[in-house]
Amino acid sequence: MNMGNIIDGKALSALVKDEVRSEVQELEARFGRKPCLCVIIVGENPASQVYVRNKVKAAAYTGMDSRLIELPAEISEEELLDRIRELNDDPLVDGILVQLPLPKHINEERVIDTISREKDVDGFHPANVSGLWLGKDCIVPCTPAGIMRLIDSVGVELKGKMAVVVGRSNIVGKPVAKLLLDRHATVVIAHSRTADLGAVTRLADVLVVAVGKAGLVTGEMVKPGAVVIDVGMNRNAEGKLCGDVDFASCEKVASWITPVPGGVGPMTIAMLMKNTIHCFLSRMQA
Ligand code: NDP
Repeated sequence: MNMGNIIDGKALSALVKDEVRSEVQELEARFGRKPCLCVIIVGENPASQVYVRNKVKAAAYTGMDSRLIELPAEISEEELLDRIRELNDDPLVDGILVQLPLPKHINEERVIDTISREKDVDGFHPANVSGLWLGKDCIVPCTPAGIMRLIDSVGVELKGKMAVVVGRSNIVGKPVAKLLLDRHATVVIAHSRTADLGAVTRLADVLVVAVGKAGLVTGEMVKPGAVVIDVGMNRNAEGKLCGDVDFASCEKVASWITPVPGGVGPMTIAMLMKNTIHCFLSRMQA
């Protein structure tokens, strides 16, 4: 799975999806039906369409059931909330994901709050967020969960290590910082107002970068031997997908590094499959 010092997220995600595939078979034998993931897309954002397609494709690979609900960009917020409520009440649906971003006239917070906590496969519902921060049973957001699997795949002991997370969003930076803290790392969160970013990132034994700025982190900002996880998904001038980390210079310094593409992205989708299993099991065992 690991080639040289590159952490191969594609290979790891294939392993996780294979794990889910056998879990789906076992669950069907035990409960008489498969887990079902429902993905809602509103409008025709091309990037969202690709993400949604990949999610549905991954679900098909694992053998679970999936539904894709494509809604027009003009749908009213109330109509969308009604569709979500129907799915909340549908006993055959285990996971509900509404692809973000949504058209401007729809309040994303209200949408997230409406998805039932038990079916919130993205782990964005306030009840799941508070569960994460209070250390209670909860659904962990897919990207942070995938990042932890990537770090674990290289066998690094997090206890007592210095972890730096660049970015403090609710979907990546903050939750991954909490997961690192749970594993007894000493965690620093850097952001756009951090005074000397390089001085902070150079402290990191584990560096997670989730900003959305191509090439923000360069080799001289990385501590020799650090594990570097690049969450960024940016398009460069040629339209090629690239991360927040300047791969060429950082790869020489890091002990392990994730590429873009082929690092965090595929793991996010694999963990979505895991979360769907988690939701199915909690509902069946409730
Ligand atoms: P947000 O835009 O929500 O957050 C970006 C964060 O980066 C903010 O906290 C911001 O700081 C910080 N930031 C901005 N500029 C700088 C800077 N110059 N130095 C330090 N910090 C800075 O982004 P997301 O967390 O949603 O996403 C981050 C990246 O990860 C994006 O490229 C996104 O596409 C990608 N992504 C990839 C996923 C995957 O599956 N691979 C999943 C989710 C996201 P401040 O808070 O001060 O504004």
